[in-house]
Order: sequence, then C-alpha cells, then structure tokens
Amino acid sequence: MEKKQQIESLRKELREHNYNYYVLDDPTISDYDFDMKLKELQALEEKHPEFYDASSPTLRVGGEVTKNFNTVAHGQRMYSLENSYSKEDLTDWEKRVQRILGDIEVEFTCELKYDGASISLTYEDGVLIRAVTRGDGFQGDDVTTNVKTIRSVPLQLKENYPAKFDIRGEIVLPFEGFAKMNEERIENGEEPYMNPRNTASGSLKLQDSALVAQRPLDCLLYGIVGQNTGIESQWQMLEKARDWGFKIPSIAKLCKSTDEVLDFVEQWDVQRHDLPYETDGVVIKINSLQQQEELGYTAKAPRWALAYKFKAERVSTVLNEITYQVGRTGAITPVANLEPVLLAGTTVKRASLHNADQIAKLDIREGDTVFVEKGGEIIPKIIAVDFTKRKADSNPTNYIPECPECGTELIRQEGEAQHFCPNDTGCPPQITGRIQHFISRKAMDIEGLGSETIELLFAKGLISNYADLYTLTMKQVMPLERMAEKSAENLVAGVEASKNIPFERVLFGLGIRYVGETVAKKLAKAYKNIDALMVANILDLVAVDEIGERIAQSVVEFFGNEKNVDIVDRLQSYGLQFSLSEEQLQNQTDTLKGKSFVVSGVFETVSRDELKKLIENNGGKISSSISSKTSYVVAGDNMGPSKKTKAEGLGVPIISEVEFLGMVR
Ligand code: AMP
Ligand code: ZN
Repeated sequence: MEKKQQIESLRKELREHNYNYYVLDDPTISDYDFDMKLKELQALEEKHPEFYDASSPTLRVGGEVTKNFNTVAHGQRMYSLENSYSKEDLTDWEKRVQRILGDIEVEFTCELKYDGASISLTYEDGVLIRAVTRGDGFQGDDVTTNVKTIRSVPLQLKENYPAKFDIRGEIVLPFEGFAKMNEERIENGEEPYMNPRNTASGSLKLQDSALVAQRPLDCLLYGIVGQNTGIESQWQMLEKARDWGFKIPSIAKLCKSTDEVLDFVEQWDVQRHDLPYETDGVVIKINSLQQQEELGYTAKAPRWALAYKFKAERVSTVLNEITYQVGRTGAITPVANLEPVLLAGTTVKRASLHNADQIAKLDIREGDTVFVEKGGEIIPKIIAVDFTKRKADSNPTNYIPECPECGTELIRQEGEAQHFCPNDTGCPPQITGRIQHFISRKAMDIEGLGSETIELLFAKGLISNYADLYTLTMKQVMPLERMAEKSAENLVAGVEASKNIPFERVLFGLGIRYVGETVAKKLAKAYKNIDALMVANILDLVAVDEIGERIAQSVVEFFGNEKNVDIVDRLQSYGLQFSLSEEQLQNQTDTLKGKSFVVSGVFETVSRDELKKLIENNGGKISSSISSKTSYVVAGDNMGPSKKTKAEGLGVPIISEVEFLGMVR
C-alpha cells in the first residue's frame, strides 16, 4: 500500500512539473531534479508492474511501434474553415451572420490560426484515451501512441472536467526545434525537411513512437466538442480547457465589433513573426455557443467561424547568380544569390533552390526578377518568376554538369532529386565535411579539435581523411595559426582519447550515407564487429530490423570502395573500437531470433530489466503491447488482468519465468 502511494504521489508531482514546463513555460524545478524524480518513478514502476497506469509520466518516452494506423470515425465531423482576405470579406460575413441571427448583438473571439496538423483528442474521466488525425474530416487515423509522447498533451487532466469530451487543436513543430532537426539531418547527410507543418504531420505517422518522442512537437488546442460540458461561449471554453490542463495560447481576444477584430488581425500580422511557431491567420468565431448552434454549418465549414488569412510577406528582387554548394556527402544544393532585400524584418540575400527539378519548375534564370516569400521555412523561398520583367536576352538555366569545387562530372541517381559529386575522396568540401562529421559530438567527440582547425589542417596538407588525425604530432600541429603549446597538446590528447569511443559511435562517425546515429546502433548490435558488417550483402542487411534497401545499398557501396576499406584498416591498426565491448557481447545468442515477447508481472529470480536484457541478448524482440504478432507473453506474479484476457483472446501462449529461462539457458 505504501509503495502504491509513493508511486502515485510521484506521478502527481511529475505531472505538475510537466505541466509547468511544457504548458505554462514556467518550470519550478531544475531539469536535473526532474530527471532524478522520473528515474525514481521508473524504478518503482519497474518493481511494481501491478500499479501500471496508462497515463503515467514515464510513458512519454515512447517505444511502442505501430505498423498500421487504424481508421477511426470522428464523433463529430472535423470541418474546414472558410477563408477571407480583406475587410470586405469580414463585413460580408458579419452581415450574413446578422441576417440569420436577426440583428442581435454578437461578440467575436479571435484566436491565431496555428499552422500544423489538426488533431482530435478524446478524454474519458480525465484520461486521454484516443488521438485521431483529421483525415477527410469524417474519419482519421488513430495516432494515440505517438501523441502520448508530446509533452504538452495532458495524459491526465487536473480538475472539474466533464466525464467525456473531445478537444481539438493543432500539433505544431516550433521553429527552433525544426531548425535543430534539420541541422542534424544535414549532419547525417540527409536532405533537410522543407517546412515545420509537413514535418509535424509526418511525425504523427511515424511507426516508432520513440522517434516521435524525440521530436520537439507541441500541441495547441482551441475547441471542445461534447454534451454536458457546461460551456456557454468560445471564450469560456478556452478558459476552462486551460484550467483542465490544456495548452491554450493566451493570445486571443474577445471583441465587440469587426473593427476590434481588424485591430487584432493587424497587430498579429506583424507580431506573429516573433512567435515561436508558425501561424497563417486569425480565426474569428461567434462567441456564444447558442448562436453558433443557430448558425450551423455549410457543406464544408461552420457558418459561425471565419479564417482571416495573413498575407504571406512577399517581395520582389533580382536574382543575380545561381551558385552550387557541395555537402559532406557530395550532395549539391543550388543557391539563389539575390539582390539584398528586406523581408519580414530581415535582409534576405540568399534562398535555396533545392534541386534541378525546382529550377526547371520555376523556369528560373539568372537576371530574372523573382518573388520571395517567408513562410514556415527559416530560409526564404522563391515562389515564382516575374515573367513580365524577364529580359529578352536571358538564357535558360543549365544545371551545372560538373562539381564547382573539384570539376568532377555530377551524377544523379534514379529517383533522387539531388545531384551528387562522386569524387568523394578528392573533393575538398567532402573531405573536410567528412572529417568534421567524424570529430563531431555525437560521433568521436574529439576535444580540442574544431571545424576550423580541420580546414586548416587540410589546407596545410596535414590530413586528407579522418585516419590521418591519428598520426598528427605536436611538431606538425604547433606551427599552425592560433595554436599554442597547450592547445596543440589538447588536440593530440583528444585524438588519443577518442580511441575509447564505442563501436556504434565510430560507425556513425565513418559518415556512411543514411547511417545516422540510430541506424549505426542497430547495425553495431546486429553485426557486432566491423569485419562482419564489411562483408554483409544487401539481403543480409535488409533482414536486420528497420534497415531498408536504401541504407543497405549505401552500406554495401561504402565498403565496396577500396579507399574506405583502407581507411578503416588504418583506424583499426591505431586501436579504435571496431567491435562491441565484452560487456555488450556477453551472453549474446540467436536463440530467440524472430520471436516477439511481452513481459508482464513481477518475477522471482530475475528483475524485469534482466529479463528484458535476456530476451534482447538472445535475439528476441520486446514489445509493450500484445498483438497477434506476439510470440509469447512472459508472465510473473500479478500479471495485469487485461493483458491476460487479451493474450488468451488472441491465442498467444503465456509462459512462466521458469519456462522462459528454460528457453534461453
Ligand atoms: P483549413 O484547413 O484551411 O480549412 O482550416 C481549418 C483548420 O484550421 C482546422 O482543421 C484547424 O485544425 C485549423 N486551426 C488552426 N488554428 C485554429 C483555431 N484557433 N481555431 C479553429 N481552427 C484552427
Ligand atoms: Zn566535387
């Protein structure tokens, strides 16, 4: 009993801190203290699975995998909004409303129109039970597992909430987090995402909820649907939902007239540029819910609401030159160099043109006058060419056939948008880019060595690949610009220390295209050492969980290149870690290969953690919920009754601790 209370009070406390941090933006304890408390709760829950709670704060980290998202009908349709763009549109709408309501006084609430992915959340007895995408408005996809990982979505409400209701809102990806994700993608040699909105909706459909948990998504809510909620107006709805624990932006206004509405629109058309997330307009709603009901819906949208779209800020300027950048993986990005122009408060000089298709689609040429817009992208975007201003003597753009840095003929693979410079060992930005990636924090994390030093070392002819780092001497490094004895010592010592970095990070550091941090971990675990990985063929590789054709192809290509093999050989001879450590390897077998386990209850001779490790070390998979694909449920004391019923219903064998240990020992 005492443990139960302890667990529940920790959950309550963590919920409150979560709310302060993610909803109110006002944390009251340090991140460290929060993590310690979360760990404490995790340990307790681990020991006492009988007190499982589907809304525990420990479930935010995700882990459940959804192969196919179920289609679910919305209890009430999710409508679109009618758009408007001018004062006239707004007054027309007001007249229509007044005609139906019979010239009585109306109030309007104004909220921002958040630009993300629409979502409908269902709560019963204060607990989140379902999250469904908008889909076609009548039915959407059940993405509950993924939405549960979003920290500002309450799993358990605070107080005085109705027994059952749906709440609707937008899942957004704030600019800062979006920029960070793109930095990482570029580091991994992947193409950056185009904009936050598409990335937010794409995130909801990821199969692995642990990946969703890593994305800095946020959920902003604006509307409740349900009977007996005791709510009379939109304004009251916002206030109540806020009290129940939802994140409801405070930027909203209750207006008495359309003039006041226009003031709000004008104000936020400017100030929206300082908001952390993207908005594309103001949503104006008739405040009284009774009046809303009277107004009803058209075939597509409510008559009681109107979206007033912000004009995307757009300017025109001259495109002086198209240049081409070469990335670490050899990917070429065309860049528009513009006549500097002021746009949404910043001076714009450059814009990405993405790839050859984009150039062809826009039919963009040097010397053209172009329209530039700042939308969700951090980098401004060229929307179109002003053909009326095109000069008679302008020439169509020919995508460069050769690498601007090394002159090698560019290639473009089937189905790829990007051109590549194949000269990976002789093209300067590829060489330095790869070494910079190798030393980066998530790879070898070499202290005392930075990107600029790499460029300097390369320019002086001291290194031409990352293996060369390991032969650098004090004598070579000392004469470099801005190098003192101490910094040279640090550099050499940092390189030496990196020899202890574990295999999976070395593998990530090699910079194989599409082999990011997570994939590197998977490959290290599956192959255990570099020698096995080097001889793997595509069929072997795709047999590894979550390794697809594209990654497999890239790995095979990398090790098919003799130059890469030489470099790896050298790194091996310098003593870098190219296999899993003894500890990682201990007791690894394939006994349970292809089998999937669910663990439930408390065990006598092993802890839950040990049991899970045994499954993984013997090649089995662990999943948190029972499905028809589950091979066995390993049940201890106090197995959850719902799990038991489910396993029995699906005919999944339930085995005891002793039976399980018999399988692996
Ligand atoms: P549209 O997709 O342009 O027809 O606009 C309708 C969408 O706007 C809805 O699906 C909502 O998810 C979204 N939206 C964003 N912010 C709001 C808000 N404050 N009130 C109502 N809808 C909103
Ligand atoms: Zn090149």
